[in-house]
Amino acid sequence: MGAVTQFYCCYLLQSVEHRQSFYIGSSPNPPRRLRQHNGELVRGGAYRTKRKGSRPWEMIMIVYGFPNKIVALQFEHAWQHGYKTRFIKENNRLINKKNSGSAGRNIHYKLALVRQLMNHTFFKFMNLGIQFFNSETAAIFEQNKFKIELDPCYKEFEKIQLSENSLSLSDYNLKQLTIDDLSDISDANKDLVTTFYDASIELDKVRMERYTERMMDGSIRCPICHDEFNYISEDPDLKPFVVLCTNEDCNYISHMSCLCRKFIKEEYGEGNETNILIPRGGKCPHCDILLEWTILTRYSLMLKEISSK
Ligand SMILES: [Zn+2]
Ligand SMILES: [Zn+2]
Repeated sequence: MGAVTQFYCCYLLQSVEHRQSFYIGSSPNPPRRLRQHNGELVRGGAYRTKRKGSRPWEMIMIVYGFPNKIVALQFEHAWQHGYKTRFIKENNRLINKKNSGSAGRNIHYKLALVRQLMNHTFFKFMNLGIQFFNSETAAIFEQNKFKIELDPCYKEFEKIQLSENSLSLSDYNLKQLTIDDLSDISDANKDLVTTFYDASIELDKVRMERYTERMMDGSIRCPICHDEFNYISEDPDLKPFVVLCTNEDCNYISHMSCLCRKFIKEEYGEGNETNILIPRGGKCPHCDILLEWTILTRYSLMLKEISSK
């Protein structure tokens, strides 16, 4: 079942030694990608030959929660090409082609771009999260030099976080980093990224196990429309898309379409829902916790995939 779990993120690397060097990429497995960027590192020697290059890289942050690889690639491309991306209106662009070289290398600009992209309607419904692994980067994001206010929905979902034990390179003399310093920083960063990624994958696994077990109950009635569905039946008509509450103590399950309509009504008000196809989320009708629509639908697709095998 592990194969169906999905994790797509975009990441920002910063060279530990050359703090003006950055790299933007995307990956379904950031710890593995980080190891690839840094090559096979052996303590006490590997960096010597690369001393003039940008290695080791520190993964200072990731933007995660993309529903698929294509969307992650779109975000990556827009982040890399902020001076021309169609996701930012021309007169809102912070830099243009002329100064994209120097200004574009600036960390304040790169973080402002993330704010701009996350505010775009296309990315906003995905409930993206940001995980910072470096506390200085998080502080720069907070400082928000370009004054791009994030949509309030991001406050609601609380997915912009700084990792526990995050790194701070102010503890080091960056002008005279030793080989040991480089190894220490790189190892500590790798641990932070791995911890975050493993926790996400584990959460997916545990939820999918609980959901699969629930579906084994057989006949279940949707609490909204009262129709029956049954994932252990042979009849494909009895296997519509369903959504389950993410709270492990809550048993809520309903049609995806029924809860979708309910959430849209709650979010936009009765009568205003006609043009809106996807809600951002809403409160579980049973336990009241905030449910993120993109997460519900992701599990829904996985369940459906398993049930049709
Ligand atoms: Zn229903
Ligand atoms: Zn619930």
